[in-house]
Amino acid sequence: MSTHQRAVEQIRQSYAEIPGDAAPRLAKATSNLFRFRDAGKTARLSARDLAEVISVDPVSMTAEVQGMTTYEHLVDATLPYGLMPYVVPQLKTITLGGAVTGLGIESTSFRDGLPHESVEELEILTGDGRIIVARDDNEHRDLFRSFPNSYGTLGYALRIKIKLRKVQPYVHLTHVKFTDADKCMLAMQEICDSMEHDGQPVDFVDGVYFTPGEMYVTLGRFSDRAPYVSDYTGMRIYYQSIRKRKRDWLTVRDYLWRWDTDWFWCSRAFGVQQPVVRSLMPRRYMRSDVYRRLVALDRKYGVTARVDRWAGRPVSEAVIQDVEAPIERGAEFLEFFHDKVGMTPVWMCPLKANSRWPLYPLEPGKLYVNFGFWGMVSLPRGQFDGYYNRLIENAVHDLDGHKSLYSTSFYAREQFWQLYNGDAYWPVKREYDPNGRLLDLYDKCVRGR
Ligand SMILES: Cc1cc2nc3c(=O)[nH]c(=O)nc-3n(C[C@H](O)[C@H](O)[C@H](O)COP(=O)(O)OP(=O)(O)OC[C@H]3O[C@@H](n4cnc5c(N)ncnc54)[C@H](O)[C@@H]3O)c2cc1C
Repeated sequence: MSTHQRAVEQIRQSYAEIPGDAAPRLAKATSNLFRFRDAGKTARLSARDLAEVISVDPVSMTAEVQGMTTYEHLVDATLPYGLMPYVVPQLKTITLGGAVTGLGIESTSFRDGLPHESVEELEILTGDGRIIVARDDNEHRDLFRSFPNSYGTLGYALRIKIKLRKVQPYVHLTHVKFTDADKCMLAMQEICDSMEHDGQPVDFVDGVYFTPGEMYVTLGRFSDRAPYVSDYTGMRIYYQSIRKRKRDWLTVRDYLWRWDTDWFWCSRAFGVQQPVVRSLMPRRYMRSDVYRRLVALDRKYGVTARVDRWAGRPVSEAVIQDVEAPIERGAEFLEFFHDKVGMTPVWMCPLKANSRWPLYPLEPGKLYVNFGFWGMVSLPRGQFDGYYNRLIENAVHDLDGHKSLYSTSFYAREQFWQLYNGDAYWPVKREYDPNGRLLDLYDKCVRGR
């Protein structure tokens, strides 16, 4: 029996031993979910020994990877072959299974879509305890197509075969400034459609909105040589560099993790961007998973909430979301967000689904922009938790957009199933989890059980 087969047998047994009245909860070392609600009656599903890269094949340009493998680990295994996954989400501890069943968007998404679009095969522990290999061309096609955006409610991915792309050692960055959101969206659309800028090919596109009059689109191009390389894993801070310089060079590895060191800009909340604190902070702690753990502890013990109460500060709401709007309506979303929420910066990343995925309601071939915003916003007097998040949900759907489910959601049940394609979900759920051992998508992602 191979190491992988032993790990599969181990998780299958662990699953079988879970009492019928407890919802299984994947026991893994890290998470990037932002739903911290009471877990109710749950039982840990041991996912030991499922976090390795099984093989990288430089000839077929594919990799076989266990479901709980982090992208950091995966990229470390592929880069020596001059290869990378088609889409590498920015946070080092996002796992391949988490990105394929949940959210994964990055600066190659304008061309390569979402991480599930470069998956060739999924080995899944289904809700009814079977181990199934699902592909786009076999009898489990319905499971393969419905897995993206199912958030572990149909089964758990144990092994994933993915396609890889060639890389070059360096990435040349150009930060293009805009003072108007309409022009910014138009330019982004033109660049994504032509995959060029100033006559040069473009391999990566994302951007940052700082104020209504200051936003940047960052274009990345592979290169075999670099005149110098910048380092944003120490005293310098990547997101601040975007405002200061027009051009930059990074190694491909540093490019892929450019957002992780400061968790985009969210490390600000821990004082890590102040020069003195930063100079004292060991580099190994400047990582998104370290900050995420601090936030989880804070939520558990309510420290910030208590300090705010003592200091007489207004109550705040966590507004931590990634939403997608069609690019032609992107400027409208930014205007709404600035007027009604007012949090900055906002990450902008164009993406295009290359085919139809039943639970991921994006129109194939159509360009969207993902807007990512993560922080606390003071509530107006008389308003309660959920106020801003509900405004955002309504705005996104008025703009024919889509909201990711890794954080809080407030939809009513009926509305949710309309938006997230209950008609497609339920037949697959009944086929692979007939006794409802796993929570359904609404209970898991909205009710947070
Ligand atoms: C501040 C912040 C910024 C973010 N920015 C981005 C971004 O820019 N781009 C992006 O792509 N994502 C982003 N994310 C979201 C993140 O990618 C998603 O939350 C992702 O689903 C987390 O994956 P994970 O591997 O950490 O899984 P977890 O957090 O452990 O789990 C996520 C969900 O997937 C399920 N799951 C996990 N592994 C498996 C598996 N093997 N099989 C089946 N189900 C599984 C879990 O049950 C759970 O429901 C951001 C999140 C935060 C908090």
